[in-house]
Amino acid sequence: MSNLSILRTYAQKPPSEFPSSVLFTHTERTLTIYDAYPKSTFHFLILPRVQSESEITLKDLHSLKTLLKCDKSHAKEVIDALAKDAEDVKKEIESEMVKRYGFKWQVVGAIVAALVFSSTFRPIWTGFHASPSMHHLHLHVLSADLCSEKLKHKKHYNSFHPKLGFFLHLEDVLGWFEAEPSYFTQMAKLDEKKYESLLKEGLTCFHCDKEMKNIPTLKEHLQSEWDAQASKAKAREERKRKAEERKKDTDSDDVETATDEHQDKKQKS
Ligand SMILES: [Zn+2]
Ligand SMILES: [Zn+2]
Repeated sequence: MSNLSILRTYAQKPPSEFPSSVLFTHTERTLTIYDAYPKSTFHFLILPRVQSESEITLKDLHSLKTLLKCDKSHAKEVIDALAKDAEDVKKEIESEMVKRYGFKWQVVGAIVAALVFSSTFRPIWTGFHASPSMHHLHLHVLSADLCSEKLKHKKHYNSFHPKLGFFLHLEDVLGWFEAEPSYFTQMAKLDEKKYESLLKEGLTCFHCDKEMKNIPTLKEHLQSEWDAQASKAKAREERKRKAEERKKDTDSDDVETATDEHQDKKQKS
């Protein structure tokens, strides 16, 4: 079995046949698996399962491009199902972030940039590759860090860079359906050549836009961006804890004062 078509094989397999190291969760319509080569601290793939009564066939589910050639409302149903199940996976990741690392991280950036690239500035990114290497449609769900030992090449990094354009945010793809039909047609073309040229662009940090000389430099820089966020979050927690302690102290002072006053009144009467 070729590695390229492993997702297609998965999509036709009953969930009970998966080892727990592969399958994270499933619903009637989707399977969520661990990405075998995670490019972030948390990285999952959500695949649509073939529905026996649906007009959308396994062949249609080959990629986003093939799906978008189908009847628009049927295509939308498939993407909506992925989006719905992605919400649950996102919640699980966010709670794991807090449980394991004590905070939820996200892209650092100015408020204006956050408004323009609203999908980028979330702790979890969900999206499709414009020109995927694996067969069978899959939605990437990953934490916003790209800190992983499996991230080894420029094309890996650029394919997930949240502002470069090769990574198509789910929110944007859903937006195509709401836009003018001509815009939908334009975007649905998904011209591989055009998108693949993006993978050759220079390396820039997705937090601060700084140019990076090579992958080792970039990886070190991304780690330091994450570390900085982690220590800020820690300091924030510490301040919160101290403030709560102070509040507790003043609260018990209040109780004491109240009791004193009460005593005074008693003595006076
Ligand atoms: Zn992919
Ligand atoms: Zn940076």
